[in-house]
Amino acid sequence: MVNEDRPIYLDYQSTTPVDSRVFREMLPTFSEKFGNAASKGHVYGWESAKLVEAGRFRIADLLGCTSKEILFTSGATESNNLALKGVAEKYRDKGNHFISVVTEHKAILDPLSRLSERGSEVTLLGVNSEGTVDLEELESALRPTTLLVSIMAVNNEIGTLAPLEEIGALCRKHDVLFHTDAAQAVGKIPIHVDKMKIDLLSLSGHKVYATKGVGALYVRRRSPTVRLASQMDGGGHERGMRSGTLNVPGIVALGKASELCQWEMGKESLRIQFLSDNLFQRIQSDLSGVQLNGHSANRLPGNLNLRFKGIDAEDLLTQLPDIAMSTGSACTTASLEPSHVLKALGLSEEAIRSSIRISLGRFTTDEEIDRAGVRIVEAVRELRAQPR
Ligand SMILES: *Cc1c(COP(=O)(O)O)cnc(C)c1O
Repeated sequence: MVNEDRPIYLDYQSTTPVDSRVFREMLPTFSEKFGNAASKGHVYGWESAKLVEAGRFRIADLLGCTSKEILFTSGATESNNLALKGVAEKYRDKGNHFISVVTEHKAILDPLSRLSERGSEVTLLGVNSEGTVDLEELESALRPTTLLVSIMAVNNEIGTLAPLEEIGALCRKHDVLFHTDAAQAVGKIPIHVDKMKIDLLSLSGHKVYATKGVGALYVRRRSPTVRLASQMDGGGHERGMRSGTLNVPGIVALGKASELCQWEMGKESLRIQFLSDNLFQRIQSDLSGVQLNGHSANRLPGNLNLRFKGIDAEDLLTQLPDIAMSTGSACTTASLEPSHVLKALGLSEEAIRSSIRISLGRFTTDEEIDRAGVRIVEAVRELRAQPR
């Protein structure tokens, strides 16, 4: 997996490579098992349908739900759009108010602004300096017309973990649906939709060592039964909630990836946490003026969002072509605006411009972390020594 000629990959929160075990499992779907899962009249279709159901089952197992509660989509962006717009349309007679948080991914914020253009009411809650939403503030934002609360499980920039169980209990108590964008959480930390009283959950294949262009939406079937207005019509696939020929290779990948995560999550997260702790300690002991953005402990294993006093993050990345990382700006969007997440923590423009996100993953090695530590320290020292 590690190629000496390529930069060290420390950007796992942007995307992950496909695990070779996942890749192997996908291969037959490109050759003999290429059928359309909706073809009812022959073995090609039956084989594919069977693979799809096996994938659905594995994902359900990881989340603690039934396979009937999993819908396949093209990714977390689509899952988020379907959850938010599908609820808005289906429950129009019941209310029109949505609550979410300013630090959400654009794949939540943009659909919500679309809904607000169409007449929905949207409340975006702020966060404290560690990126956590206040539960009392959440409770007092609830209205009789509130349909749904959407709060991400793990922030993609700063890794802050949301108190899902508390949020779920609060939503259930007030009879409001709870959706979570769990693209950064599924397969990395334990998620249990019943224990956490989650009604809708979005996940993405390419964040869990499966392929790009596949994702899923968990939709609760029982107490309460969640219903959605489909946003993609044509053929009535996925119980009428999401039409379109299923991406069988992607679904097989996502299923296998889910199984691997379920087996290995505990061990893997400890190893990754150990490596990122080492990297942080080394950087902090060798350099002054380094701060961790976000929560010091309550964060995704392997996420380090660091700011380096006096350093421009873009310059730092330029100085380090041998390490692949993200700056605090625009890692999730096509624009170059300063990160709305870091802004919400109360950081100054300058602090935001000096921040980078380092994210470790399954294939990160001890040697890579040793080398990355040395190189980051070197690069920061060189930049600080330059006349400005
Ligand atoms: C990556 C990501 C998305 C987008 O997922 P796609 O599958 O690429 O559409 C949405 N939300 C979060 C939190 C993410 O990290």
